[in-house]
Amino acid sequence: MNREQKSEIKIQDNKKDSLSSVPRSLSSEACVRCGSCKALCPTYMHDVTEGMSARGRVVLLNKFNDGDIEPSEALDKRLYSCILCGACNSLCPLGINITDAIYGCRKKIAKYNKKRRLLTSLLGFGLKRTNAGFSLIKFLEGINNLLPVQNILPFKIFKDLDIVLPDSPLRDSVSIFRVSKPRGRIAVFAGCSVNFLYPEAGRSLIKSLTALNYDVILPQGEACCGAPLLGLGLERDAAQLAEKNLKIFKDLNVEAVVGLCPTCIHFIKNEYIRLVGSGIDNAMEVPQFFMDKIQQAEHKRQKIDNKNLASDICHLGSVIYHDPCHSIYNLNVSSEPRNILKSLGTNIIDSDKGCCGFGGTFRLLYKELSESILDDRIKAYKNADTIVTSCPNCIIQLRSRLKNKPVKHIIEIIEKALKEEENEK
Ligand code: SF4
Ligand code: SF4
Repeated sequence: MNREQKSEIKIQDNKKDSLSSVPRSLSSEACVRCGSCKALCPTYMHDVTEGMSARGRVVLLNKFNDGDIEPSEALDKRLYSCILCGACNSLCPLGINITDAIYGCRKKIAKYNKKRRLLTSLLGFGLKRTNAGFSLIKFLEGINNLLPVQNILPFKIFKDLDIVLPDSPLRDSVSIFRVSKPRGRIAVFAGCSVNFLYPEAGRSLIKSLTALNYDVILPQGEACCGAPLLGLGLERDAAQLAEKNLKIFKDLNVEAVVGLCPTCIHFIKNEYIRLVGSGIDNAMEVPQFFMDKIQQAEHKRQKIDNKNLASDICHLGSVIYHDPCHSIYNLNVSSEPRNILKSLGTNIIDSDKGCCGFGGTFRLLYKELSESILDDRIKAYKNADTIVTSCPNCIIQLRSRLKNKPVKHIIEIIEKALKEEENEK
């Protein structure tokens, strides 16, 4: 059977099964090697070899799937150096889901790389037991004087990225925040980065939601969304976490499940459909949820006192909004955060768009390439006084280099604006 015949059968199969409800689910076997997907590929921009481009990866994984090539170090590097940003998916004229094809191939080749086994085992273990992992790390941090731990893996990463662990995670004990006359109920999907590294963003989200008169629920038992595990080729482990989160969030009877990390939201909404056949349909990012509400509130308030909240309260100066890859390529969110910032009177300036180079495990496995991709962002953002974004991981990556320039999550600006409104009432 030739490749075209195989592609045709695969396309028909896709239409029949549950994957047909996932956008862009055409098999990689349909690739005609046009090269359109290379145009925005961040790894190709920094290593101009075919194998480091989206098309190069598709060609290689098709050859591997057809049995034409064996697992090798070169194949491993090409597939694991993909940031999984999704830019290529948005460019393929045939609608091939390139990232899903890469996830699928990583699953098959994961076991051949012995060097990555330690990282895979540690992350696999830790991400399935995040609370216990956090307590262990805090314990080790506490006995640093007795037993120097700076050179063991998680601490090396924290030092490299200038991460200071908070005293306690966001989802510590309180799980329901009630207001007196609620207009509705919202659940928060905190995600690991916000829960364990950046809990102040989670607190800002809770305060913003209660300021708008919503009861807020942080369901007990939320697990990692599974994205890092799927990225490492551990599909079965990622699916277990998906099942757990679905059980907790699916039947909460809430208006929306709001999250501060676009990767988590893309996963629980879209990737879970492929992984376990069902996703959390009402999951949304902060800018999607808040846009209309902020614009309406600001319109009313500015009629009264004609003040620009963001520029008056937050002292942001000129702002560049950094688009997280999973927001623009997977959730189609781009105008919403800018509309929020504009309605708060922020002076937004233009810049070219691009990946920050973090990509979770990509930063750990390909640090040099990650930093080289980050260099472009630092240059592109040199004229801004403040960088605003909506992803805690982009914040970590950008802050690792931008020491004298604030990098904020948009929820921090929203919280301040809503608080000021409360004070003015
Ligand atoms: S997901 Fe991003 S890094 Fe990976 S092949 Fe596609 S464009 Fe390149
Ligand atoms: S854009 Fe689509 S068809 Fe063209 S090379 Fe990339 S994956 Fe293949």
